Amino acid sequence: MTDALFSRIALIGIGLIGSSIARDVKALGLAKEVVISTRSAETLRRAEELQLGTSYTASAAEAVKGADLVIVSVPVGASEEVARQIAATLKPGAIVTDVGSTKASVIAQMAPHMPEGVHFIPGHPLAGTEKSGPDAGFEGLFQGRWCIFTPLPDTDPEALRKLTAFWTALGSRIDEMDPQHHDKVLAIVSHLPHIIAYNIVGTADDLETVTESEVIKYSASGFRDFTRLAASDPTMWRDVCLHNREAILEMLARFSEDLAYLQRAIRWGEGDKLFELFSRTRTIRRSIVEAGQDVDVPDFGRHALDKK
Ligand code: NAP
Repeated sequence: MTDALFSRIALIGIGLIGSSIARDVKALGLAKEVVISTRSAETLRRAEELQLGTSYTASAAEAVKGADLVIVSVPVGASEEVARQIAATLKPGAIVTDVGSTKASVIAQMAPHMPEGVHFIPGHPLAGTEKSGPDAGFEGLFQGRWCIFTPLPDTDPEALRKLTAFWTALGSRIDEMDPQHHDKVLAIVSHLPHIIAYNIVGTADDLETVTESEVIKYSASGFRDFTRLAASDPTMWRDVCLHNREAILEMLARFSEDLAYLQRAIRWGEGDKLFELFSRTRTIRRSIVEAGQDVDVPDFGRHALDKK
């Protein structure tokens, strides 16, 4: 149990990310009070059943009253709407942060609504799963994962220090970058892989020469790994695509060029080119394991299957 860093935390949105934060805050005793708010009565009731906070309200404006820290965990396309709702009731001196997967768009949506004296520090924890909703969250999700802040130029250093202490207590490693750079980096490491996964699973689903039962039956040969990404929340990923459009389109253009190179190498039987690329990519996998961002065992549901 750590000392409470904040007196009152308000969590706006209590899905996978919000509820994982709530679970850690509770386990670590990071706040005296945790007010939970979400737009639907059903999710709010579930959060209460799971005892994720100390009080519950459907009104985001009500939830942020008196809160020292406000964490907005909703699909990025809903950021402006939430900012509008909470603006008038934010406590002077409060820290407002978010967890959205895109940053330039969230800043454009939220910053104009933040009142004088409130510290808005955009953030993005690079942690998650393909599941959503309050039941999908778990304690320790952020352990050993990066949390990227994209602070605005006039950010108060003390507020930044407090938010850093919060995410560090959750086990995260902190980095800072400018929002445009964040969006470019994330376009390649996260957004493009999801789009490719959605595309390949969609293609397999459309194929008429292979039946659906064959796609499912033989999925372990590679397809299965893509289906995990392609099972990610449709609302979240629709919003990511719409709110990081430029960076994603740039990466997709690069990807298409490289795919054409690969296509050509296969067509002309240029095995050396294929071998060179496949060796290079294998090294990247090793570097990820060495950096502690994955373990060197097969995953994507295989553990669960092994236990059966
Ligand atoms: P989630 O499990 O689907 O939960 C979404 C939460 O936002 C729910 O409380 C939901 O409320 C609320 N919400 C949905 N649409 C809304 C709207 N239009 N207005 C107000 N509230 C709305 O989502 P999540 O995975 O926690 O993702 C939340 C944020 O974290 C997103 O911005 C996402 O980009 C970011 N993120 C996600 C991951 C990941 O792997 N999932 C990782 C890092 C960052 P109701 O249920 O009451 O409708």
